Amino acid sequence: MSDVLNFHENCVFCKIIKGDIPSTKVYEDNLCYAFRDINPQAPTHILVVPKAHIQSVAEVSSKNEALVGHMFTVIAKIARDEGLEGGYRVISNCGPDAGQTVPHLHFHILGGAKMGERMV
Ligand code: AMP
Ligand code: ZN
Repeated sequence: MSDVLNFHENCVFCKIIKGDIPSTKVYEDNLCYAFRDINPQAPTHILVVPKAHIQSVAEVSSKNEALVGHMFTVIAKIARDEGLEGGYRVISNCGPDAGQTVPHLHFHILGGAKMGERMV
């Protein structure tokens, strides 16, 4: 199982997916897992991660693009289920210049309040 999913020993999000670190689960299927951010930056702040350890957007390729597409279907479903009809922001920090702190691909879903216009 861990071979198939390619868990990384010291990765916080791999540990969350395995259940070794507790999290507040929002959604799960065979390909991805979603949970509430421990340090929320908006009233609703959810992280969507692939179960397979992919480091960042920089590792997205034709090999895993179907998985990433699926993650966006999940993002839209979670946003509907969370009642974010006013809109939301989807962010993925990629690499050190972007401030990525956990090197396991994740999409932040931020919503529940009118956001500032400064960032993109
Ligand atoms: P980034 O800075 O884009 O890599 O985002 C990493 C995010 O993971 C941050 O928003 C953290 O608050 C969040 N985070 C780190 N550890 C945990 C954890 N154990 N449970 C939930 N969220 C976490
Ligand atoms: Zn990982």
